[in-house]
Amino acid sequence: MEMTRVFSGIKPTGHVTLGNYLGAMRRWADVDQYRADSLFCIVDLHALTVDHDPARVRRLSRQGATLLLAAGLDPEVCTVYLQSHVDEHTRLSYLLECVATDGEMRRMIQYKEKSARERERGGSVRLSLLTYPVLMAADILAFGTDEVPVGDDQVQHVELARDLAVRFNQRYGHTFVVPKATGPEVAARVMNLQDPTSKMGKSEDSGPGIVYLLDEPDVVRKKVMRAVTDSGREVVYDRETRPGVANLLDILAACTGGEPAALAGAYQSYGALKKDTAEAVVEVLRPVQERHRELCADPSHVDGVLRDGAERARAMARPTVDAAYRAIGL
Ligand code: ADP
Repeated sequence: MEMTRVFSGIKPTGHVTLGNYLGAMRRWADVDQYRADSLFCIVDLHALTVDHDPARVRRLSRQGATLLLAAGLDPEVCTVYLQSHVDEHTRLSYLLECVATDGEMRRMIQYKEKSARERERGGSVRLSLLTYPVLMAADILAFGTDEVPVGDDQVQHVELARDLAVRFNQRYGHTFVVPKATGPEVAARVMNLQDPTSKMGKSEDSGPGIVYLLDEPDVVRKKVMRAVTDSGREVVYDRETRPGVANLLDILAACTGGEPAALAGAYQSYGALKKDTAEAVVEVLRPVQERHRELCADPSHVDGVLRDGAERARAMARPTVDAAYRAIGL
């Protein structure tokens, strides 16, 4: 039997957050790369869907790749590369645009949110923001991906990739594996510490509610100690009525391996919960930051990993993308 194929990615739209790490990257490094034939991609083309500074995207792509390695992805075991280095992504994306419909794209939650934000700012909405989930579907389908390990916010996009795969296969004959999203048990949606009703995202504005992977220990402590909770006293796990406290318990559980509802019982005050959560986060980030420092001292190593990765990814994607063109009769 062939090994499971896993694909996932991260956008270079901002500094990598604790949400990205606990919701996705950590599992890629600790579990996915060893159980599957896997690819992890810095999806830099997706960063062009909104207003951006090209030099910053370039810098963040590089930093993102370095952090993937720092998190523990081993280029001997999995493939790490930049999306823009592999033309198969955009070659396939066009074919999938001919299978997707305008209506289904406009229904995507992230499109609705991001386009509304863009309009509020008085900016124009790029067409690629609307079609971005199609490119993401191409990212996934090009590799015959079985599983896509992502946080909750990306589940709808993986479902679109499934729909497009099924539709293409029905219309043109079996070509694509139909992928499925897999999520972590805890911390699938790490929330902003200052606004626990919105997610801790790197693409949104920065601020004290977001813990970055490269934050110094004291910065982490300060941010966690200032997290918004509520006026209650008792520590209980309830995401609906106590989102701030539940978020801290989720983070603590993800960092220490416990279970959020069970951990709640161990605390008599919010202060003690925050203190332990801050220390747990500091400990989880420490080895990643150390390894990041080492990797930054040897930039040619990261260059080499990305070059080899792109070559491998191209070779893996080409047969499927060629098959898709042939299936259409081109
Ligand atoms: P962002 O929204 O931070 O720009 P990406 O779209 O690049 O992140 O996503 C990279 C991975 O991190 C995805 O698998 C996504 O589901 C996950 N992720 C992003 N934010 C969070 C969060 N707050 N909690 C859990 N997982 C997250």
